[in-house]
Amino acid sequence: MEALKQFKPEWSDWCPGCGNFGIINAEQQAIMELGLNSERVVIVSGIGCSGKLPHFMRIPVSGVHTLHGRALAFATGIKLSNPSLEVIVNGGDGDLLGIGVGHFVSIGRRNTDITVIVHDNGVYGLTKGQASPTLLRGIKTKSLPKPNINDAINPLFLALSAGYTFVARGYAYDVKHLKELIKRAIKHKGLALVDVLQPCPTYNDINTKEWYDKRIYKLDNDTGWDPVVKAESETKDKLKKAIDKSFEWGDRIPIGVFYENELIPSFEERIKQNSPSYSQYYPAAQQIEIDRKPN
Ligand code: SF4
Repeated sequence: MEALKQFKPEWSDWCPGCGNFGIINAEQQAIMELGLNSERVVIVSGIGCSGKLPHFMRIPVSGVHTLHGRALAFATGIKLSNPSLEVIVNGGDGDLLGIGVGHFVSIGRRNTDITVIVHDNGVYGLTKGQASPTLLRGIKTKSLPKPNINDAINPLFLALSAGYTFVARGYAYDVKHLKELIKRAIKHKGLALVDVLQPCPTYNDINTKEWYDKRIYKLDNDTGWDPVVKAESETKDKLKKAIDKSFEWGDRIPIGVFYENELIPSFEERIKQNSPSYSQYYPAAQQIEIDRKPN
């Protein structure tokens, strides 16, 4: 409880009960527990309720509040110009999977070493609750005059097929579990997605806390579930299993790590391989190698 109070924004204009409070809390705890030098952490956001997150952080990290749908492009530039930085992107499902979906896919092909956190609430909260890309067809939330006529994007499936090498789903009201997912995503070498089920109590009256609480279960409790690829020969099989699992939605909704593969080179490694002078011109790139050496 102390930790929850410590990381609660001193001020914010998020609505009471918004799932964003759980996300900001888990994210700050993850950064602190990993012992990251806060001068090396950059939070990049786009437009939407989630876009305000860098302003509300209680710990002294850097933040960049960018354009609608462009957070991933900014984040890529930041990471490549100084690879020693830990870059974390926070964006809504409307921001990252609507206007920003091209960047969401392209960055997967590169496997850039950054962490992407999607605040997934099914609505455009900042602009009064229009249907966003993750709202299922046929659902009518309270600010829609009629049920949604568009099919939904499955963020996990999209990320898995685009090349993300760490794919997880968390729940904004389970801060402890979400914190562990974010820690694992930050530590992952390569591109990591944490899709966070984030109830919006103001505009989404269907996917509420009560609705999720009845359905959510943890993959970690399933002893037969092993998402980590340990040899290249396992890749296809683990990817297929993760994709199948990503479509489980209804009476039971899994959260946890769906897929993890560190055998695929990151974008930075690919650049270095093709241009050995990369480290020489970017001293920061050398720094990250030092940091990653096992103790
Ligand atoms: Fe949160 Fe929804 Fe309010 Fe935005 S509109 S702050 S997502 S509850």
